[in-house]
This record gives sequence, C-alpha cells and structure tokens, in this order.
Amino acid sequence: MRGETMQTENNRWLRGREGALRFSAFVPAGTVNQHLADPDKRERALELFSENGIRKVYLDCLRGGHFPGDELLTELRDVLQKRGFQVAAGLTPTRGTGKASTHGRWWLCYTNADTQAELQDIVRRTARIFDEIIVDDFLCTQCQCEECQSQRGHRSWAEYYRDLLVQVARDCIIEPSRSENPNIRITIKYPQWYDRFHVFGYDVCRHPGQFDEVWVGTEIRDPRVEYVHQYQAFANYRWLASLAGSKIGGAWFDFINCYPAIYVEQAVQSILAGARELIRFHYDPELYSPENPNTRALLQAIPMLEKLAETLDGQPNHGIAFYKPPDTDGGDEAYLLDYLGMLGLPMIPCHSFPDDAQAACLPVQAASDPDVVTRALAFAEAGGTLLITPGFLNELSHDTRILQLAGYATPPVTDADVWTFQFGVCQEPVHAEAHVHFGACLHPVAAETLATGIHPDGNFPVLTRHLYGEGKVLVLNAKTFRYPTGSGRVTTAEPVSLPHLPQSLVDRLRAEMLPHLPVKIQVRSRVGVYCYTNFLVLTNFNDQAVETRMTCQHGHRGPAEEIATHRSVGEWIDGQLVFPLPARQFVLLRMPESCSV
Ligand SMILES: [Zn+2]
Repeated sequence: MRGETMQTENNRWLRGREGALRFSAFVPAGTVNQHLADPDKRERALELFSENGIRKVYLDCLRGGHFPGDELLTELRDVLQKRGFQVAAGLTPTRGTGKASTHGRWWLCYTNADTQAELQDIVRRTARIFDEIIVDDFLCTQCQCEECQSQRGHRSWAEYYRDLLVQVARDCIIEPSRSENPNIRITIKYPQWYDRFHVFGYDVCRHPGQFDEVWVGTEIRDPRVEYVHQYQAFANYRWLASLAGSKIGGAWFDFINCYPAIYVEQAVQSILAGARELIRFHYDPELYSPENPNTRALLQAIPMLEKLAETLDGQPNHGIAFYKPPDTDGGDEAYLLDYLGMLGLPMIPCHSFPDDAQAACLPVQAASDPDVVTRALAFAEAGGTLLITPGFLNELSHDTRILQLAGYATPPVTDADVWTFQFGVCQEPVHAEAHVHFGACLHPVAAETLATGIHPDGNFPVLTRHLYGEGKVLVLNAKTFRYPTGSGRVTTAEPVSLPHLPQSLVDRLRAEMLPHLPVKIQVRSRVGVYCYTNFLVLTNFNDQAVETRMTCQHGHRGPAEEIATHRSVGEWIDGQLVFPLPARQFVLLRMPESCSV
C-alpha cells in the first residue's frame, strides 16, 4: 500500500505540477553537441527530461573549448520552449578558452587580454539568444604567469585575484551581455568550498552586488573519497545566503563520486538550507536514465523531498550562529563549521557579528573582525552563550579581556599533538568510536572543565565553561586541518577525526549551547540537527540506525508522526520521545505546541 501511494504521488509530481520544489537540468556544451544536435538523441533527451520531472534546461554555451554555435542554440531554445520547458544559458570559462592558468587544472589566466576578449565575445553571442545566463564555478584562478605577476603589483595574490575577477565579471560578462540584451539576468554559481573562496578570486562581498542572482554548489559527493562531510552543503548555502540576501537563487549538485544515499543527501541538504530549485548537473542519457541508481533513488525520494520543501517554506531556522566574516582563513580550523554540524549542533552561518543570536560560535575566522572582542564581551554580558575555539583564543591571546571572558591563563593555548579515544565527561569515563586528534593544549584557570581527554602522558581539557556576566563561554578543543601556504587545494584536504567525539560529550555541548531550546536532543554524532520555528529535522549520516531521545520540558504526551512519510515514529510519554532514526534517512517532526522555538 505504502509503495502504491508513493508511486501515485510520484506520477503526479512527474506530470510537472507546480510545486514547492523544482528540478532543472544542466547540459554541458560538449553534451549539447553530442546529444541535442541529432534529432533522435534530442527526442530521447526530451523524454528523459520529462521522466525526471525537469522544468528548466540550462544549455551550456561554452566549456572546455566546446561552443555549440548560435544556430544550434537558437534552435534548441525554441524546441525546448515549444515543448514546455523553461530555457536558460550556462557559461563555463574553463581550459580551452583563452590562456590557461599556470596553476589550477581547469582554470584560466584572466589577466590575459585574449582570455578576456574570447569570454566577452561568447557572452555577447549568448546574450543575443537567451535572457538568462548562469556562470559555472570557474570564475577563479591561481595563475602566476609573468602577466599576472606584473599586474599584481604590491597586492597579495588573493587580493589581486579578487580584484581581477570583479573586473572580469563587470567588463567581460555583465556589461557586454547587458549591452546586447537589456533584459538579461546573470547568475553567479559558487562552488562548495566556502573557506577557500577568497584565496582564488571569489569575492563574496562584491560579486553578489554585481550579479542578479547567487547560486550555490551543494555537490558534497562521497565523503570517503573527497573527505567532504554532508553538512558542508547546508553550511555553504546558508553562509552565501547570509551574504546574498534576497539574491539567493537555488542549489546545484552533481553525480560525480556519488552513490544513491549521498546523491539524495545532496538534495536534502539543499532543501534544508532553503533551496527550492535544484539544478542537476549534468544531463547525459545514462545519468538521467531511471535505471541509473542515483537517479532512481532521487525519483523515489521526490514525494518526500517535496513534502520537506513545502513544510519548511517560510520557516526560519534557529540554532548557533557561526560567525565567519568574508575573506577569512580557517587556519587549523578549516571548514570547522561542517564538523560542528556533523556533531549534531544546529549551526547557522553568518558573515556579520550575530548580535541578536542567543548562542554563537566564534572560530579563528572571527578573530579577524577588529571589533570582535568588544562585541563578544557585550554578547556574553547580556546573557548570550559563546562557543570559542583554540584558534580564536590563540589569535587574540594578547588581549586580556578575551582571557577573562573565557577564564583562561596566559598563554591560553599551547601546541599539542595528541590522539585519544578515551574521555571523561562530567567525571564519567566514556569511549569514542575512534581516536580523535587534538592540536592544542588548553589552559583554563577560572573556567570549569566539563570534559577531559584521557591519555597516558596526562589528561587534558576538551571542553570548558566559564560564566561571564549574564551569559557563559565554552571552549571546545577543536581541530580540523590546515592548508599549507600556497596550496591549490579547495575542498577538504584530509580526513578529520573531530566527528568521532563520544555522544555524551556532544550531548553535553549541545545542551550547554542551546539552553533556550525547549527540546533537549540526545543523539550520537553524524546526525544533523536542524531547528525551525515549528519543526525539527534530523538527518542520519550513519550507515546504521541510531537511537534518538528527545525531551520536552513541558511533559508533552501523545503520538509523534514523521511528516514526510506519515509514519508514526513513536509516542511522547511524559515529555520523552525515543525512536530509531534509520540509516541515511531524515525525519521531519512537528514540535509539540508547547515546545516550538
Ligand atoms: Zn596569468
């Protein structure tokens, strides 16, 4: 019966009804030539678009030296529109156009006049055919050729690249396309690697002002292959949304290094972050075939995904503000935001100091804000809860006010290189599922130690708490990894052990950080927790079911239903709900009236 219902809902969706969730196809320039020029192959593509519930098709006009040509693009635009699809252009400035970058496998030297002229020419031709262009995530460079060196002057490479790509966006993309087509809308699509944007030319302050829309890469792919954890998709989208404001568009993910569970998780994280249009990169008959395991899994999940999108529409998310100002380095804490999310902390990334939040995390990136100390003191003074990191403490160790705020000695942090799987949490010994690496030794004086790492060479603080003003300050001994100077890596460079922290430690941290949340959640790590005003979503990234315990302060009673599937997950008994969260699934729960945020 359940299967039948799913099938009916699926069919209704596939007939293309208007809904809260829309899927789009991206066809790379080479594939346009290969699969859309020939009438039979084109017919097959149109069938597959329909079978996949695609409503909009992006036709790439340039990629790797492929240019489908004005005539074919115009014909395809008209055919697709006639068949009921919306159509837009894609633009992918990669190798094959102009001059190649000396570093970065696919990137271009944008200083070069030929690169700029070629790009401008393609943009003009594209703007005459389409009213909308999305620029794929190659507006970045690491070129260090002589031309780039002489143009750079006294600027750092990162500063030079950002200035250069702002100029290229204006002179080679936006102005020429507007002069050809005053109605054109140009979208910048960002890659997923938010902690490295500023190093390679992505200017998160100026680009969103220049472009009409901002789109977000949520292509996390297999964490075992690329070491990127699922929460990065949510983190990247929310951080860019905080910068782009009303210009935020949608999300974009791909098939690369994917298997069905992770492919669907890319869609789930995009929706949780707020995306309602999802571009599936890229069309290929084999990838879009309903026999393709990733596509099959996504098509089966669509009714649930649509319910998720509908239910969360207009629901702001709540949690712990994570302050990452624009153009800031992660130091030893690169992508820490992702791992805090993987520990089941509902993180809300932001680019300016979150004065209005009840709980906030200040990582090393936040230390670059010249006013951060004054703001942090005022925040805690007024009753806020702060979570700060060894990198943040270390950067500001010269400021005694920060030491007093955290309750730490001088110096507050020294280097360490310790692995352990044994911990003490509130005097109770616990084991982690695997060893966790620590790169800092914390030196609290007035702060109380809530959790300790146990090691034959001596125990060391992992989590401390210090009451300050009306609020409190926690320090988590967190480490991820660091990019070596000059590294061209953009995504996660190595595996990170932080998500192995034991459940009791993470439950304690969550409870300390979210005292204002009316529901207390106890769950092991690698379960994402997402709080909305009336709803709660949990995503289990583990390959096995995990037990989840929720406690509502108001002693709620009654049945609990999973909203996306209408399945019962159990019963609230005296304010407690305990249920198994299936492997690689999400649950969407309505909070009891008395427990809403
Ligand atoms: Zn160059």
